[in-house]
Amino acid sequence: MAQMFVAGEWKPAKSGATYPVINPATEEVVDHVPLAGPEDVEEAVRAAKEAFPAWAKRDFEERGELLRKGIEILRAHREEVVETLTREQGKPLHEAQGEFDHLLHGLAYYADLATKIRGAYQPLPSRLGPSYGLVIKRPMGVVAAIVPWNFPLTLMGTKIGPALVAGNTVVVKPASTTPLAALKVVGYLNQAGLPPGVLNLITGAGKVVGEALVSHSEVRRVAFTGETATGRRILELSVPHFKRVTLELGGSDPVIVCSDADLDKAVRGVLIGRFWNAGQACLAAKRIYVFEDVYDAFVEKLLAGVARYEPGEGWVKAERPRIRIGPLHTAKQREEVLGQLQDALAKGGKLLYGGRIPEAREKGFFFMPTVVAEPAHDSRVVREETFGPLLPIWKVRDIDEAIRLANDSIYGLGSSIWTYNVKWIHKAAQEIEAGMTWVNQIHYGYDELPFGGVKQSGYGKEHGLEALEYYFETKSVVVGDLE
Ligand code: NDP
Repeated sequence: MAQMFVAGEWKPAKSGATYPVINPATEEVVDHVPLAGPEDVEEAVRAAKEAFPAWAKRDFEERGELLRKGIEILRAHREEVVETLTREQGKPLHEAQGEFDHLLHGLAYYADLATKIRGAYQPLPSRLGPSYGLVIKRPMGVVAAIVPWNFPLTLMGTKIGPALVAGNTVVVKPASTTPLAALKVVGYLNQAGLPPGVLNLITGAGKVVGEALVSHSEVRRVAFTGETATGRRILELSVPHFKRVTLELGGSDPVIVCSDADLDKAVRGVLIGRFWNAGQACLAAKRIYVFEDVYDAFVEKLLAGVARYEPGEGWVKAERPRIRIGPLHTAKQREEVLGQLQDALAKGGKLLYGGRIPEAREKGFFFMPTVVAEPAHDSRVVREETFGPLLPIWKVRDIDEAIRLANDSIYGLGSSIWTYNVKWIHKAAQEIEAGMTWVNQIHYGYDELPFGGVKQSGYGKEHGLEALEYYFETKSVVVGDLE
């Protein structure tokens, strides 16, 4: 049975309770983990608070060095972590490898930044006597990192990397259904020599453990990735203590394919963008708007690509030219996608591909990659986030109609445009309401670029230099009496 990592030790829940982690491809139990309660949160937060003063004072170079050492230890255990990720999450092995490598890349980015953090010097008017100002950056204290199940490693890394190099201590709460690979990562990072209490992980239900963490008066900073509805609750719980909160929430990324697009490249971008992780990604190609003069050619190429996907267990490689697509993560997730598809078909959508559970699949939460054309723009596939391999596609007259429809969403996370027309690129960059716009590029979250949404996709940034700012208090210091 797996255990939690608190105050430098592997521990069960104080109550002794556990729960099973289920393999989405077989519905078998992968392992059991502790079902923590508020008393375990109390212990983890206390450990993180006690560890904070010494960690905050630790040399920046040493903090970066410890993280770098942790990365090397992790690298030596790549296969074990990747395999665990596939078994608990469902994604194919090559995707789990990609996620693991992205995690290390992101951690290394922040380890390198540890020595490059700067404040500022400000000359001041002398009417109160000669003085100057300094703008200094101070770590905040205990950080709660709350992570969803779709990318359990990278979305943990985007929080713990900047938090730790900035001098904060962390309590991670992974999704209930994906704690195992995250536990391994936290264990190996600690093996590098992190002082006890600097990096903790507790397992258990969001409504219990997550809420206790977010409400805890000693937690100064909450970094959350998950659904918009949960984000709203996190915000409510944070308000009484005025905590610093960043919210990376749901998305419904539009993709615009223009007349002059390289259709093969656009199709590849859409296929990866929609079917990676069985469509369970926040940044994903979720609504496609194609100029009418290239619509038929685009759809033909798209459907040829979709037909290559073969649902199956993530640890079994697909034979080329087939491409493995794993199961959905839970039965509930599959029901949700099915419900959204039925709604789209009832609202005038035409099923072009898939739309069902693959034959001979009695176990596991598999679903065929699915394409639906022209559902009404008030369908659930537009109003809600689609978190599965369901791709709606529409024909548009011109760039103005494409951008109007792209913006017809409560979300504003990613977006993309496929064109070489500089005016259309400029218009998309300026007018699409989203945190990111890719031009002739797949929806991918680079570690180097700030990433985060607008509208109901949340606020605050992860990735890039910008993410570090959210893990510091900026303090002004005036130095006077200089004569
Ligand atoms: P949830 O919001 O259900 O859960 C996210 C995390 O929050 C889990 O650890 C969960 O724990 C915890 N949680 C749930 N309820 C509470 C609560 N009341 N208080 C505190 N914590 C709580 O999201 P999913 O795990 O279903 O992840 C999918 C969602 O994440 C999608 O909407 C997706 O778009 C979004 N996402 C956004 C990204 C972005 O960067 N913008 C990136 C990736 C995903 P438990 O599992 O125990 O319920």
